[in-house]
Amino acid sequence: MSETADLTVVLSWLQAAVAASQRDYANDPYDAYIFGVLAGWECEENHEHGPTCKGQTLMSTLAKTHGWREDYVARLREHRAIVRAALDDSARPDEEPTT
Ligand SMILES: [Zn+2]
Repeated sequence: MSETADLTVVLSWLQAAVAASQRDYANDPYDAYIFGVLAGWECEENHEHGPTCKGQTLMSTLAKTHGWREDYVARLREHRAIVRAALDDSARPDEEPTT
């Protein structure tokens, strides 16, 4: 339990660090991957995505720019989902798991 808490503290710190940075994370393919995992390039609102959503076409632009294959983008999205789930869980420590 405390191991998970420690990991989410680290992830949360890294996420804040990349979000606050002046660095252009889209420019370099490895930077772009790191930003994509920690902060996400795509809209993460729970709604029907539309043309006004953040980064709706950004991922495909990044994939084109950096020559990312479909499975690479899928892995990035999977890694992002794992980080996001870990941070979402830590944001609600008092909530009981619904099983
Ligand atoms: Zn959206």
